[in-house]
Amino acid sequence: MPIDATQPYDDSNIFARILRGELPCRKVHEDEFALAFHDINPQAPVHLLVIPKGAYVSWDDFTAKASDAEVAGFMRAVGQVAREAGLVAPGYRLLANTGGHGHQEVPHLHVHIFGGRQFREMVPLVRG
Ligand code: 5GP
Repeated sequence: MPIDATQPYDDSNIFARILRGELPCRKVHEDEFALAFHDINPQAPVHLLVIPKGAYVSWDDFTAKASDAEVAGFMRAVGQVAREAGLVAPGYRLLANTGGHGHQEVPHLHVHIFGGRQFREMVPLVRG
């Protein structure tokens, strides 16, 4: 079920538990601002998730409340993860589902990085 992006942060969500080390993940990157790991149900040959270390429900929550250092650190981490996965030359796709219409399911901001194959143009995806 998609979440309400305006809900308060729920410390028991799956990604909060991964951040605390209570649940395992296939980690590919960690720094002061971000953790990145393989999606458990990959939708492409490469499907990574990058999450901020801070407690932010969604892209909206993060961009409204995070410090400039957190925003910059997170954005740089997303770029670095894609670079280190070898995705820059072939290209890749980023996605941050947000709230109900965006069909966000986990209430901790995450950016999907998809790569490893040719994707279709965006319009059919946007049409849903
Ligand atoms: P959303 O629909 O919220 O944008 O994406 C949530 C993503 O989290 C999905 O792609 C789903 O496969 C992934 N996911 C859900 N639970 C887990 C988990 O426990 N571990 C990992 N690595 N990914 C998860």
